[in-house]
Amino acid sequence: MSNEQQTIHEFDLNIIHDFFSNTERQGPGSSEETLKALSFIEGLTGKSKIADIGCGTGGQTMVLAQNTSCEIIGIDACPDFINQFNKNTQTRNFQSRLKGIIGDMKNLPFQDKELDLIWSEGAIYNIGFERGLKEWRRFLKPGGYIAITENTWFTEERPAEIEQFWQKAYPEIDTIPNKVHQMQKAGYLPVATFKVPDTCWTDYYATMEEVQKPFLKKYKGNRTAEQFIEYQQYETALYNKYNSYYGYMFYVGKKL
Ligand code: SAH
Repeated sequence: MSNEQQTIHEFDLNIIHDFFSNTERQGPGSSEETLKALSFIEGLTGKSKIADIGCGTGGQTMVLAQNTSCEIIGIDACPDFINQFNKNTQTRNFQSRLKGIIGDMKNLPFQDKELDLIWSEGAIYNIGFERGLKEWRRFLKPGGYIAITENTWFTEERPAEIEQFWQKAYPEIDTIPNKVHQMQKAGYLPVATFKVPDTCWTDYYATMEEVQKPFLKKYKGNRTAEQFIEYQQYETALYNKYNSYYGYMFYVGKKL
């Protein structure tokens, strides 16, 4: 199978997890963008509860902990990430109000109206944008917020090569007005929409490049590992060529 035809979902998950345990973030993003999104959220107190869904090793969760006094639960399906998350929590002395748990975003362990804020950077695509927005809504208190990043088309039309790549990797990729509409339709007032800068992607791909070498050494001769890296390199090359057509948008909404 050629790189063009293979998606990340087809690679062995253990290899992917091993790869990403070594990076601070597992998707494009930065502290600055996390803080910018947080600035649109009103009314958080020491009694508020936040869930960070698909938290990974907690790059953005640590920023939320540093800049609020809330209780925060990070949830991720990958035990290695949660392990690293809880180590990061201890190093920063946040363990009294920050906890990482293993869980499935398709079956979250919360009560209805338990949360003041749902956070999810670079992860909602695993359940799908519309389904995630709909299913997670009941866990929010009335007036609670949701803040998510999502891969989005910036233009109405795209060159065929990039259109086909993302249609296969993430068929729910859509334009900004359509995403905002979906958010409103799911029962949220769109509060803020802003673009995550290109530098978040180039930094993310640069970090990956650094990890690729030792990773390939460790998995020398493992075709799955090699293909995983080849796929990443192809995705990076496409990003460099077509970044004016797509990227992450931050969407902040308020439960209606
Ligand atoms: N928010 C982090 C990680 C993004 S990568 C960051 O921006 O750095 C996407 C994350 O979603 C991964 O950590 C992956 O393990 C997690 N994930 C994938 N499917 C999941 C599921 N069904 N339930 C919970 N987490 C999931």
